[in-house]
Amino acid sequence: MTNRCDCHCVFCIRDQEASALGGLWLQEEPAKEAVLAEILAQDLGQYTEIVFCGYGEPTCRADDLFWLCDQLRAAGRADLPPIRLNTNGHGSLINHRDITPELKGRLDAVSVSLNGSNREEYLRLTRPGAGEKGWQAMLDFVRQAVQYVPKVMVSIVDYDKSPQEMEACRRLAEELGATFRVRPFAG
Ligand code: SF4
Repeated sequence: MTNRCDCHCVFCIRDQEASALGGLWLQEEPAKEAVLAEILAQDLGQYTEIVFCGYGEPTCRADDLFWLCDQLRAAGRADLPPIRLNTNGHGSLINHRDITPELKGRLDAVSVSLNGSNREEYLRLTRPGAGEKGWQAMLDFVRQAVQYVPKVMVSIVDYDKSPQEMEACRRLAEELGATFRVRPFAG
């Protein structure tokens, strides 16, 4: 729903020509009502999930995202699939409040981009606007989210990672109480 983001990941395609991004690049952000109407117009039974994801950080529009989850559930559709949020884990930092309690009952799953097993590696790859605060904000978000969402994953894009770093990420995921997921680099 947005191309805005507080990070500037080295592998992000947002810096590419708009024409290379196809439908991922928005001329303008759609109104939440338009997004709702478009989703409800679908035969939802053909989808395994509804996923709020990038490129762009969905929690830049957290209030609209939560409104959409509420409306989708209130619509009472028997074919509504599980709803997932893919995020960089900065939603609380971006919105200046802890948004994790607001995930409860709205999201079935949350996938947080981990990107690195330590602060230096994380900052090297994601380059958050808030600098070092971004690392801690992401960790706090995961620790909090596992209390409110049935399924919380931390994901690594298989980009520039040694087996040792992968293993360190897996261990960190475990410490955070989340499931570890490796995603193939698509760039
Ligand atoms: S968090 Fe996602 S949208 Fe934001 S810069 Fe990184 S890859 Fe791009």
